[in-house]
Amino acid sequence: MDNCIFCKIVQKEIPANIVYEDDSYMAFLDIHPQSPGHVQVIPKTHTRWAWQVPNAGAYFEVAKKIALAQQKAFNTEIIWSKIMGDEVPHAHIWVFPHPDTPGDKNDFAGNAEKIKENL
Ligand SMILES: [Zn+2]
Repeated sequence: MDNCIFCKIVQKEIPANIVYEDDSYMAFLDIHPQSPGHVQVIPKTHTRWAWQVPNAGAYFEVAKKIALAQQKAFNTEIIWSKIMGDEVPHAHIWVFPHPDTPGDKNDFAGNAEKIKENL
């Protein structure tokens, strides 16, 4: 969809720290992180709400994969997740370590690498 920032990330028109990608889904670091390694998991096809993603089970499996990698990458059991959808009109699941998790939340390249190493 034109003018959708997440569609532009999918098309690689806007750079992002992508940690996971397959044919249907993508996960990348949020540019306004709540904690180190804060990820947004999105469907590659423009969809307004997470509840409209056709294969929701597969979508949530990706969120789980990211959360398990974050547990290892940031040495914490506490991974939070939120589904709101009002900030960007393209379905997304927030998956992020607890806000008190030690680490530099603005070290995007380093945090992306840590997640990828643990996927
Ligand atoms: Zn979009």
